[in-house]
Formats: sequence, C-alpha cells, structure tokens
Amino acid sequence: MSLAEQLYKLQQVDLELQKKQQELNEVENRLSDNKALVAAESKLASQKEQLEDARKKQKSAEWELEDLQEKVRRIDSKLYSGTTKDPKELVNLEKEVKGLKSQIRLKEDVLLGLMSQVEEIEAEVKTTAEEIKRLKREWEQRQETLGQRKSEVETVLAELRGERNGLGQQIESEALNTYERIKLIRGQAVVKVERGKCQGCHITVPTSQWQKAKAGDLIQCTSCSRILYLE
Ligand SMILES: [Zn+2]
Repeated sequence: MSLAEQLYKLQQVDLELQKKQQELNEVENRLSDNKALVAAESKLASQKEQLEDARKKQKSAEWELEDLQEKVRRIDSKLYSGTTKDPKELVNLEKEVKGLKSQIRLKEDVLLGLMSQVEEIEAEVKTTAEEIKRLKREWEQRQETLGQRKSEVETVLAELRGERNGLGQQIESEALNTYERIKLIRGQAVVKVERGKCQGCHITVPTSQWQKAKAGDLIQCTSCSRILYLE
C-alpha cells in the first residue's frame, strides 16, 4: 500500500470519527435539554401563586359580603321589632338598609367575578400540571432511547479510535506530520486526482507529478499543498 493510500484510509477514519463525535455531542445536548420542562414548572409555580392570590381575594369579598348582610339583618330586626317608634329614625334606618343593599349587590358582582377568575386559574393549573406530566414522560422516554444511542455511538467511537491508532502506527511519522499539518489548515489533507485535476482545488496537476503520485511517492499539489492520491 502506498503512503498516499495509507493516509487516504487514515483520513476516511478521521472523517468518520469526526462525524461520530458530532453525533455524540448532539445526543448529549439532547439528553441534557430539559428547557421545556423547566419552563412548564415555572409556569405552574406562578399560576399557583395567582390562584392563591385570587382565592384570598374571594375569601375577603365573602367576608365583606357577610358583614354587610349581617348589618342589614340587624337593622331589619330593629325596623320590624316595633321597638323604634320615631318616624324620623325609621326613615333613616330604611335609607341605611337601601344603601347597604346596593353595596351588597355591588359586592356580589365583585364576588362572582372573583369566583370565575378562581375557576379559570384552577383550569389553567390543571392544564399545566398535565403538560408537566406529559413532558416528564417524554423526558424519561428520551433518556432511555438517547442513552442507548449514546452508548452505541461511544462503542463505535472507541472502535474507530482503535483503528485510527493502528493505522497511524503503520505510517512513518514524517508523512503523518505532513498529513496533520495540512489537515489543520485545509480540513481535508488527502485528495484524489481525477481527470488530471486535484479534487481539492481543481487545478490541473502536471503529468509528471501525478505519475509520481501514482507510482507511490508522496506528492503534494503545487497549488493547495494537499497530498495527491491516485487509485
Ligand atoms: Zn490542489
């Protein structure tokens, strides 16, 4: 096997390694991504706060309403017990009752509004809690499938690294250094020559050069410095 061919094979393994490493990174990113769940949980927390607040408001409206009703009851009993004889006082008491009753009507409206608000928020809390349940289920399933995928990719990576080491040991160090140097700059260090052209930069390779490359010499493209490989 020529040196160029050995390097070409090494490059194929390197490319595969790169691909698998990228896949591993993606799998790991997805494994740790729980943004949706975190967002839903914080949404639930704030909805629960709102609910507590609305319930407190409802309770105090109920108490205020009871107070008003109690006041009306007291005046009513005064009015109808016959203990108050003074006509002026009676008129005043009736006025007071009228005023209290209109306050009661307003308070009842407010209370109804608060009750429906509480109901609305309760429904929202329920929906979010269900969403969290679903997200947790999905998260667990994802952990399982992605965990499996991760260990598969890690196995392949370990195999590829082994293969890479084996190939690297067979190649003389000077050629390996040249390969690494070009790889660093060009990304791909070894390219094929097709129809007389370097497939890295598409410049025509002089016949003498590609003939040498074909014979097994380590020849670099004069234009892009990549190592030329002819099958
Ligand atoms: Zn070139």
